[in-house]
Amino acid sequence: MTAELEKKAREWLIERGVQVEDIAELVHYLQEKYYPGLTMDRCIYNVERVLSKREVQNAILTGIQLDVLAEQGKLEQPLQDTLERDESLYGIDEVIALSIINLYGSIGFTNYGYIDKQKPGILEKLNDKSSGECHTFLDDIVGAIAAAAASRLAHSQNEEENIDG
Ligand SMILES: [Mg+2]
Repeated sequence: MTAELEKKAREWLIERGVQVEDIAELVHYLQEKYYPGLTMDRCIYNVERVLSKREVQNAILTGIQLDVLAEQGKLEQPLQDTLERDESLYGIDEVIALSIINLYGSIGFTNYGYIDKQKPGILEKLNDKSSGECHTFLDDIVGAIAAAAASRLAHSQNEEENIDG
């Protein structure tokens, strides 16, 4: 069951156009100024650790499921329009994102706010409304995974100890 959940979450990310490397690039973007010489391998490692958490896998599956149903026009109104238009006052996509960030303490909030505003790399792609795809939840989830991985990296670098999880 646990392994199945992780497998499915990873498959769905890829199906929706998000590779582990894309998220690792966001981590690098967030942390390179604090850790000169930061390698992509280290960023990938921290993204992998975040992706191995059950709470994160559940957030991925829930968010992507809603995105896909919205894309197919299968939700009831008014939720269908709200998700299709990615209405800014909806806010539940951000709540799901916060559930991921909360796992690694408060530094994550700042990082999440920052990349959500800048929208570098994969986040710009996910926010391209002309694609006809709906990524109302996924953009926030990807930003949150990157922010969480950046926090994890910062904790592990600063404390030089293995944090659990
Ligand atoms: Mg969103």
